[in-house]
Amino acid sequence: MDDWREKQELLVMDGRIKVPYRWFAGEVGTRYLESLRDQGVFLGTRCPQCGIVYHIPRRNCPDCFEECSEWVELGREGTLESYTVVRKHHPQLSVLPLPYGYGIIKLDGADTGFLHLIGEFDEEDLAVGARVEAVFSDAREGNILDVKYFRPTGGVE
Ligand SMILES: [Zn+2]
Repeated sequence: MDDWREKQELLVMDGRIKVPYRWFAGEVGTRYLESLRDQGVFLGTRCPQCGIVYHIPRRNCPDCFEECSEWVELGREGTLESYTVVRKHHPQLSVLPLPYGYGIIKLDGADTGFLHLIGEFDEEDLAVGARVEAVFSDAREGNILDVKYFRPTGGVE
């Protein structure tokens, strides 16, 4: 039987699909997001074996697999470990007025950093080691954008 594909140049079309999704935040994620929404408090979890405090909190330590059953209250301030500045508008991705940033922020009391937005800055205020503080949204909904962004406080660690 002839296969039409043998005599045909196979063309490939590039495309994009949008896949909206929702998923349950789980016990640990729900406690974390409720604390942010209702008290404006960042929580982490500590591994009882190696002592690492994880933020975002984890149920199990990815290093030694112990259950991280101890909850730790973290600061609203932290240190910028890495960052980039966005200067070009993107219709789907621009979430703050330009320029804004993305940074890895290690909150006071945590041993691990997490990715979030940086706003309200002069570029000379941004540096690895710069101190930053959380700016909370007025209307909190129980997601990570209950923290609008982090802004520099002027200090450097
Ligand atoms: Zn551990």
